[in-house]
Amino acid sequence: MTYTEIMVRYGELSTKGKNRRRFIGRLQGNVTKALRRFSNLEIRAHRDRLHVILNGEDSQAVMHRLQQIFGIQNFSPSVRVERDMTQVRKMAVKMIKAQYQPGQTFKINTRRSDHHFEMDTNEINADLGGVVLDQIPGIKVQVHHPDITLRVEVRLDGIYLSSETIQGAGGLPVGSAGRGMLMLSGGIDSPVSGYLALKRGVDIQMVHFYSPPYTSAKALAKAKALTAKLAVYGGSIQFIEVPFAHIQEEIKNKVPEGYLMTVQRRLMLRLTDEIRQQRHGLAIFNGESLGQVASQTLESMAAINDVTTTPVLRPVVSLDKNEIIKIAQRINTFDLSILPFEDCCTIFAPPKPKTKPNLMRTRHYEDLIDVAGLMKEALAGIKVTEIKPDDQFLTQDQSEINQLL
Ligand code: ATP
Ligand code: MG
Repeated sequence: MTYTEIMVRYGELSTKGKNRRRFIGRLQGNVTKALRRFSNLEIRAHRDRLHVILNGEDSQAVMHRLQQIFGIQNFSPSVRVERDMTQVRKMAVKMIKAQYQPGQTFKINTRRSDHHFEMDTNEINADLGGVVLDQIPGIKVQVHHPDITLRVEVRLDGIYLSSETIQGAGGLPVGSAGRGMLMLSGGIDSPVSGYLALKRGVDIQMVHFYSPPYTSAKALAKAKALTAKLAVYGGSIQFIEVPFAHIQEEIKNKVPEGYLMTVQRRLMLRLTDEIRQQRHGLAIFNGESLGQVASQTLESMAAINDVTTTPVLRPVVSLDKNEIIKIAQRINTFDLSILPFEDCCTIFAPPKPKTKPNLMRTRHYEDLIDVAGLMKEALAGIKVTEIKPDDQFLTQDQSEINQLL
């Protein structure tokens, strides 16, 4: 079937009252950006639909990309014919035949945005229903739960037919909820948190702490490669790398072993919050899941979160590891996340971190290091890269990666 356009239905944004126009504008911008490489497309946003007019572009490739854009409920590949019932009848039969399996049922569902057309919706439904029954032996009408629903839409510029509805990614258009910082490690959880933040419309920027010479260039490349995977959903993403080795050395020298991890995490959060403020973000996201490791008990979260009143949001807080892994596999971050390149926290991880750090002691131990001076130095060493979906960072071929696993 050669389709002429993809008809896109909005997700939750349809219910957002007066913000609706802003949301639709954002979605149109995101769709335009994501489909940029299809140079013949025309994208037109209307109140209740967005029309992607193909002008000869490959409908399958366009639909594959549309499935990765948040704010889309579902979409239907459609064919436009002239406003002439002879042509509509021919196309209706052709579309249903292309899908029909013996024993299936169908229904015609017409809507008119042009009320001047010579037939009304009931007449069109009855006319086309009759033609289909005549020309496809064995097919039956079923109004409530048909196997095939042929949608017919009468518009000023033609009549549009579609027989398939494909689920979109749901969520809200990226950017419609404002900006947030994601604390991105090389692990499994934080990329999944980033995906879930994007899904609710947050424009995320990555903050990644790395510790050369203790951590390798590959660990940094891995975090960037994970960012490229998420950029599929977010357009392009800013990746902010923060040197963390000196801070870790200072903490290791001055803070008792049981509190190393808590104080390290406080410094990470302090730095992320400073970067957030500079970049006009409203919240911080991380990949913490309650009870998963020592730093993720409620006591620990409280002792770490103590450094800021900025909302620290944890999209995977209540998910079990295997639930997180399922999402990671679906969004293609899992295989990268399990590559064994040590990140900065693993290197300086104490053998027995306190699972219930005491808040007063935590504050006291943190005072043993020069927080302001160390932060200033780390912030001066920041490097920012803009990462796009097709950017490559880990150049090894698959066999080398397989050996590592
Ligand atoms: P993940 O799989 O996301 O690494 P994890 O279960 O391994 O999570 P931790 O290593 O304790 O847990 O990290 C908890 C959270 O702290 C991470 O999800 C991430 O948001 C943040 N974090 C940890 N290491 C880094 C890092 N090097 N840079 C930025 N954020 C980090
Ligand atoms: Mg980790």
